[in-house]
Amino acid sequence: MNTPEIQIDQYDQEHIHKTLADFILQRREQPDLFAWCKPFYESVQYQHSIGHHKYRRVMLSANGNRVIVEDQHTGKPREMIMMGSNSYLGLNNHPKVKAAALEAIEKYGVGAGSPPHFSGYYDLHRELEKNLSILKGAEDTIIYPSGYATNVGIISCFLGPKDTIILDKLAHASIIDGALLSGAKITTFRHNDMESLERVLIQTKKGQGDRLVVVEGVYSMDGDIAPLRDIYELVKKHGAKLMVDEAHATGVLGKTGKGSPEHFGLEGKIDLVMGTFSKSLGGLGGFVSAKKEVVCYLRYFSRAYFFAASPTPVQVAAQNAAVQVLMTEPQWHQRLWENIRYFHSELRKRHFDIERTQTAITPIVIGDTIKMREVTKFLDEKGIFVNPVPYPAVPRKKDRLRLSLSALHTREDLDTVLAALDEAEERFHFAKNPDEVERKEH
Ligand code: PMP
Repeated sequence: MNTPEIQIDQYDQEHIHKTLADFILQRREQPDLFAWCKPFYESVQYQHSIGHHKYRRVMLSANGNRVIVEDQHTGKPREMIMMGSNSYLGLNNHPKVKAAALEAIEKYGVGAGSPPHFSGYYDLHRELEKNLSILKGAEDTIIYPSGYATNVGIISCFLGPKDTIILDKLAHASIIDGALLSGAKITTFRHNDMESLERVLIQTKKGQGDRLVVVEGVYSMDGDIAPLRDIYELVKKHGAKLMVDEAHATGVLGKTGKGSPEHFGLEGKIDLVMGTFSKSLGGLGGFVSAKKEVVCYLRYFSRAYFFAASPTPVQVAAQNAAVQVLMTEPQWHQRLWENIRYFHSELRKRHFDIERTQTAITPIVIGDTIKMREVTKFLDEKGIFVNPVPYPAVPRKKDRLRLSLSALHTREDLDTVLAALDEAEERFHFAKNPDEVERKEH
């Protein structure tokens, strides 16, 4: 196997090796609250100067299959193929969604003006609650200003120190933060492993408090699907409650894109179905669909709802239109799946390590933080926008490019990306060794 051609010598040895992990995982030694800021700032500046800092790139057009991005070094606009957007169906720029937003601005202005219990609850909010309840097959729905606030708001509302929250090892930060805020006991099971989940359910037998199992319909870094039917049956067998985070499943899973409950025939059966508007629905905000009395309780006791301004009428009108498009224009969901099938099969042929992905989220594991930055820089120069995700956001030696597929990608876009990945592989060698793959498969 060839060694990667990274010219480490040309870089400042101290700075090149600095990673996010150095700042997150090491304890701050000095009492000064801001002690980490200066070394961190210098590290970001250095990564930027050598083209390794591919975050917060400035978009100059709507996110679609192509996007105009401000070049980080020249400041000039240039077109790139967008492989880093979570707008899986392209609804952020759909004409009906934009028209609904414009109409709402004309009628209601731009802000809701208040939290929902005061003057921030409009006919648009009520309509969206109804539409989402239909989408998820639930009795009622509550809407929050963001997906992050939704997870923190639900979990910290229902759980307290006597309760236990049972999380998949790969749980999203917003779920973990909700669990921490609730004060509940936190326990985890191995990712998507039903034996491990059952073991934890047995070990945490219901005592003084209750137990809530939280899983994600689609996992945000690996793109794999939770076996929700099995999880549901185990949770019911052991008398616990179940919440599913549909951030990356809404618009993607299910015959018509309604998400995990549709995919597994569990509509109306899961205790708490949480979702975000920020991915397939192309906007901003979050929601929970559940039984009507559960939603009613959240409306009065969930602090992230009660004490926060309502999502703006513009946002809500856009989401109403996006849900309508999802339910009436099946072509976006179909095109997304055509792209998923084609792209994954081409990546597998090339022996790229795409983890267990089954959906639009497509990781390409590089395995080393610096090499990951070099590959991202190489692709950026070729006009391909991908998101680099280093350790500790993913496990050690699983540093990766995170690509997202959209219904808007054309075959030509995907072939251009594949050709660029081939070139990158020739230069940096990150595909799996084909002999190893074959040996494992036999
Ligand atoms: N849950 C999951 C699984 C997510 O991936 C995200 C966002 N990345 C969130 C919740 C938070 O949603 P939002 O970005 O809409 O606040």
